[in-house]
Amino acid sequence: MVDIERRLPDYYKDGKISIPENIKQRLENMQYRILGNHSAIEICHWTKKALLDEGACYKQRFYGVDAHMCAQIGPTAMWCSNNCIYCWRPMEFMKAIKIKEGQVDDPGIIINEAVEQRRLLLIGFKGNEKVCMEKMNQVLNEFPNHWAISLSGEPMLYPKLPGLVKQLKSNKDVRSIFIVTNGQEIEMLDKLVKQDALPTQLYVSISASNKEEYKKIHRPVHKDYWERINHTLSLLENIGTRTVIRLTVIKGLNDKNEHIKEFAQLFKSSRPDFIEVKAYMYLGYSMNRLKYNNMPTHEEIKMYARKLLEHLEDYHLEDEQPESRIVLLKRNDSNVHNIITFHDNLPPVEINENTSINTIRSKYRRTIPLLRSMGINTEKNTCRSLKQIALELGLDVGRIIEKINSFIEENYGKNRGA
Ligand code: SF4
Repeated sequence: MVDIERRLPDYYKDGKISIPENIKQRLENMQYRILGNHSAIEICHWTKKALLDEGACYKQRFYGVDAHMCAQIGPTAMWCSNNCIYCWRPMEFMKAIKIKEGQVDDPGIIINEAVEQRRLLLIGFKGNEKVCMEKMNQVLNEFPNHWAISLSGEPMLYPKLPGLVKQLKSNKDVRSIFIVTNGQEIEMLDKLVKQDALPTQLYVSISASNKEEYKKIHRPVHKDYWERINHTLSLLENIGTRTVIRLTVIKGLNDKNEHIKEFAQLFKSSRPDFIEVKAYMYLGYSMNRLKYNNMPTHEEIKMYARKLLEHLEDYHLEDEQPESRIVLLKRNDSNVHNIITFHDNLPPVEINENTSINTIRSKYRRTIPLLRSMGINTEKNTCRSLKQIALELGLDVGRIIEKINSFIEENYGKNRGA
């Protein structure tokens, strides 16, 4: 078991758990911003790339979220019940786990400070000549429409998580909330279900295929760690929201054939909508624990996914993003759409030759597969107008507009106010 004593002692300020000043300083040097006493936000690399129209994260590609409108937060940024060896976060700063309701900030404080700090961290992009002004204006004037509760620490340790999710869900501008959990905090998961506070998409991260391996790779704090993760996995199929298992492949550690068979067994009984097979990335603090050679290539990830599918008849390869070294598997009978279309078409917009791909794909997300089928990139150069894109692709802009408009009419109804 992880020697808890080695961890930093708990730190309280005015009865609240709090990140100590010296750690705050180090986190701010890493471009984190501390929200209240114990939460943090950081601008994701992909949010910056999306603002410069140079591409977007695989979650935009796979699920349609707007990477430039993403707020990546951690409500218990320095608290986690695992110590995964592949984690790029400063695990060694992290603390023990028992946190009481009265010891934490209210969700409103975290959300308001997150919105403010995010604006301050991004406003500087306004001066960058490469920035897409259409997206920049959205960032500065609109509420973040995607919340990635996955920055650092285990979010399920935040006792007021149901309130945080519900507050975000009640905001009409919020289109998606993702929570990434290590699956150890089963009591909180139970609360989220009971209080109807599940996120749009629930991620369970597991990168060990059996009890012994889990101890080695995830270095859990809970003694009944294997029972806890299996309990969480057993809930996924019928939990009542979109579910994803994220498997981080570490070359030389969890990529042997026997591991693949064991993972397939775990996933077969858990039956999430999606399985993300992702390469370990030699980044951040993980470089103190692993080697460069532990990082698989994208081709190796594809091979791994294909081997996994040999034992997973109910799944198929749905998509991939080479630059993120990730492959997406989807359950054959899953009835969820890949693209999250919550709050689509609000407010409706007119499509003409000056309309950008960014506007079309983020307002009418159901058009994303259609745009891709016409050879239009929906992650990069999306601030270009239909006219510019048609010119580049040698297509007839009138024909493209016609196709998009009839698709919108068919899928969103005549008055577009559907
Ligand atoms: S969804 Fe995740 S990867 Fe994409 S921009 Fe947000 S934090 Fe980054």
